[in-house]
Amino acid sequence: MSPRRIVIAGGGAAGFFATITCAEAAPDAEVTILEKSAQFLSKVKISGSGRCNVTHACFDARELSVRYPRGERALLSPFKRFQASDTVAWFESRGVKLKTEGDGRMFPVSDSSQTIIDCLINAVKAAGVKLRLNTGVESVKRNESGGFELALSDGETLICDCLLLATGGCRAAAAGQLAVSLGHKLEPPVPSLFTFHIATPWLRGLAGVSVESAEASVPGVRLRERGALLATHWGLSGPAILRLSAWGARELHGLDYKFPLHINWLPHLNAEKIATEFQSRRGSQPAKLIVNTPLAPLPSRLWEQLVLAAGISRDTRWAGLSRAAQHRLVQQLIRTKFQVTGKSLNKDEFVTCGGVRLSEVDFKTMESRFCPGLYFAGELLDIDGITGGFNFQAAWTTGWIAGRAMAGA
Ligand SMILES: Cc1cc2nc3c(=O)[nH]c(=O)nc-3n(C[C@H](O)[C@H](O)[C@H](O)COP(=O)(O)OP(=O)(O)OC[C@H]3O[C@@H](n4cnc5c(N)ncnc54)[C@H](O)[C@@H]3O)c2cc1C
Repeated sequence: MSPRRIVIAGGGAAGFFATITCAEAAPDAEVTILEKSAQFLSKVKISGSGRCNVTHACFDARELSVRYPRGERALLSPFKRFQASDTVAWFESRGVKLKTEGDGRMFPVSDSSQTIIDCLINAVKAAGVKLRLNTGVESVKRNESGGFELALSDGETLICDCLLLATGGCRAAAAGQLAVSLGHKLEPPVPSLFTFHIATPWLRGLAGVSVESAEASVPGVRLRERGALLATHWGLSGPAILRLSAWGARELHGLDYKFPLHINWLPHLNAEKIATEFQSRRGSQPAKLIVNTPLAPLPSRLWEQLVLAAGISRDTRWAGLSRAAQHRLVQQLIRTKFQVTGKSLNKDEFVTCGGVRLSEVDFKTMESRFCPGLYFAGELLDIDGITGGFNFQAAWTTGWIAGRAMAGA
């Protein structure tokens, strides 16, 4: 009997994980990975600013699944089979140790994405996989008798029994076409993980200033996130903003990225507590200038701008703070109102929301529900996570499950 021919289209994180898993579990199969560009794993290379945020230190399947604005329900049982702790063990068993940063993000100890790339390439070679660069799948036809006929970019026709599509996010219109040509539907692609443009001059003057815990919310669409915020030359960024952009990817797209944004700079306090603190300052430091005496933990430059934005002059002392001005300052601290006018890609990590419709895929195997022998993994699916290593985790997990299933394991 001739060996089973398995083709993986897409040499990114999901494609490699599936390929290695499959080739190791089915050593007799003929496994080929096709990459249309001149380089394998190019997104891994640039990921996490060149450090590759491989996964997140979140070792409970349910807790992990709620980090996915799209894909939460579908990923729950896959995570029960292969989750972040399995990723850590997988890389460690191949000599790559991961470390955890304070916010839970996990990186190779080397702080270099090349370590991850070398590990994956070595594993794929050791498993005897055929590697082909500059070879895109241009079109695919399912044979009546089963299996697929692939038309490749170099003019060759390749026949296989199983095909895994791991071709990445569907941002470009053509990207999901192979899946569509085999009868699958795509949820419309829109960007996720982006930063906000805000034209308010005093905010732009604060570029580089960050706060560890603020709350950002979009009134009217029930979006609220707490976490670190960073002022940039064009507006706001930081984990709280990126998470808001992920959860609101569709709604904010629908608003053409023009919407009001509220920031609570002191979410651990409430208006009464802040007012009580101001009252006490009136008594304890009446002669001090308000602009010079920030409320912890706010950075002094931000405090100064919030005081001025509340209409309190630079020479106002605590003793001279009127009730009306106090009210304005409290409101400014708990609800600064900005207008977002657009978005920018976040350079550290971005993904596409949208892709192959999840109800059409069996997540026990990652096989198409109506096209036997066709499998999916990675960002091509309508799955995306918040920032912090969750997107690679989805690629490792779906790749691993597809790889096992294609191997018949
Ligand atoms: C700048 C940046 C930084 C990121 N950093 C992180 C991070 O630190 N942590 C994290 O979790 N996530 C990160 N992400 C997200 C993460 O990179 C993706 O979610 C992940 O790469 C998806 O893997 P994938 O294999 O599904 O797709 P991809 O990595 O996009 O791979 C798909 C591959 O398929 C190839 N291909 C496409 N069409 C065809 C075809 N027809 N035939 C053959 N090959 C084809 C493409 O050329 C590509 O190489 C980052 C993303 C970006 C853009």
